[in-house]
Amino acid sequence: MHKIDDKQVRSEFWLRQGRQFLAIAIALFIVILLAIVHKRQDLFGEYSKSTIFAAQLAVIAAFIGFTAFNWRCPSCNKYLGRDINKRFCRHCRARLR
Ligand SMILES: [Zn+2]
Repeated sequence: MHKIDDKQVRSEFWLRQGRQFLAIAIALFIVILLAIVHKRQDLFGEYSKSTIFAAQLAVIAAFIGFTAFNWRCPSCNKYLGRDINKRFCRHCRARLR
C-alpha cells in the first residue's frame, strides 16, 4: 500500500472534514426545508406526508452514503467514527490535525 506522509494526511483530512461539515449543513437544510414545506401548504402547495417523508429519507440515505465514502482516514482508509474533531485515527494512529 502506498503510504502518504504526515503533512499530506493532515491536509487531506482537513479537506474531508470540510466536505463532511458541508454535507451535514446541506442535509440538515433540506430536511428542515421539507418540514417547512409540509407545514406551510398554503405557501408551497400540497404534498402528502408520505412524499415528504420519502424525500427526507432519501436525503438521509444520501448523507449516510456520502459519509461512508468521505469520512475515512486518509492514511489507512478506515471509517473514522462519530467524532468529527478527531486528532488521531484510532486504527492506524495517524495524526489528523
Ligand atoms: Zn488511519
